Amino acid sequence: MAGSVWIICETKGDAVAPLAFELAAAARLIGEPVVAVGCGAAFTRAAGEFGAHGVATLVEVAGCEGHLQGGVIAAAAVEAIKELGAPSAILAGHTYTGRDALAHLSALLFAPVLGNVVNVALEGDSIVVENVIFGGERVVSTTVDPGKIALVGVRAKSFAPDLVAAPATPGILTVAAPPETPALRSRVVSSQSEERTGPKLDEAAVVVAGGRGLGAPENYASIEELAQLLNGAPGASRAIVDAGWVPYAYQVGQTGKTVKPNVYIAVGISGATQHMVGMKGSKSIIAINKDKEAPIFRIADLGVVGDAQKILPRLIDAIKRRG
Ligand SMILES: Cc1cc2nc3c(=O)[nH]c(=O)nc-3n(C[C@H](O)[C@H](O)[C@H](O)COP(=O)(O)OP(=O)(O)OC[C@H]3O[C@@H](n4cnc5c(N)ncnc54)[C@H](O)[C@@H]3O)c2cc1C
Repeated sequence: MAGSVWIICETKGDAVAPLAFELAAAARLIGEPVVAVGCGAAFTRAAGEFGAHGVATLVEVAGCEGHLQGGVIAAAAVEAIKELGAPSAILAGHTYTGRDALAHLSALLFAPVLGNVVNVALEGDSIVVENVIFGGERVVSTTVDPGKIALVGVRAKSFAPDLVAAPATPGILTVAAPPETPALRSRVVSSQSEERTGPKLDEAAVVVAGGRGLGAPENYASIEELAQLLNGAPGASRAIVDAGWVPYAYQVGQTGKTVKPNVYIAVGISGATQHMVGMKGSKSIIAINKDKEAPIFRIADLGVVGDAQKILPRLIDAIKRRG
């Protein structure tokens, strides 16, 4: 086994972002012990959950609330390394905050960053990471020299957040970023979270996504209705986000959310690589498209060739009738 592996954990409001537990699962594949670094009371309150996911130590970053988390966490992690020793890898989500943290760590530790990572493994003493490029068309495998710290940006939904058989309560080390840390000069003045009823897009068991083939913004109401009937979340292709039909938070794909529901229903979506990279891990994919040559049918488990405007109302009606 290589040395310890650290994970950077984001907190949102009073909760730890679920991606932290996916990172813990990834970390356990390449080393131990697993050390988690994060900010605030929400982070330490989740100690039991971290223990259940195999995390041995929590590094609690003091005084980062109200600042941009990435840079402060990175600077505090470097302080903690002085006490705990250097890890073989540091994993963060391939998110805005995660990438910010990795960029700071790269400068502070003079280590390279590998982003968009979907798999990690240990081969001998070397960590091997796989990351996707060209919108998911190619997978690149990179071996990190043993003795170098691998900084890894992990794509959401790439690892199942498995529990360990023998959970232990993690120890807690509290550290602060040095006062000269640039990110401490940032101040978060406001934040808004979109109000949404029903399950979150990236956590829903069913996602119903609409694309340009819906024809007009008002037709998106059928996507929302179908999603609601199936207790799922509505999603969208970038084409209709860019057109202003729905907010960016609905976008699935390379520059949107990665989803892995049990069922993904794509309506009027062509299946561009940049869209498919964000949903191709779904367990079952149903596509409705009037063009039988549409690329989405290549990955669909069930393809319905036809006009969405005719199919959606009938489908909604049939589901309502079944109660
Ligand atoms: C750097 C980069 C990043 C990108 N990131 C993303 C991303 O994150 N997510 C994303 O989605 N895209 C992304 N894109 C854009 C992507 O390349 C496509 O342009 C986009 O996904 C197309 O959206 P669409 O399928 O809704 O539209 P279109 O490609 O226009 O497809 C519309 C489909 O609807 C079908 N259709 C038309 N009428 C009907 C009807 N009445 N009934 C049924 N079907 C019908 C058509 O046959 C067609 O297949 C990105 C592009 C770039 C360059």
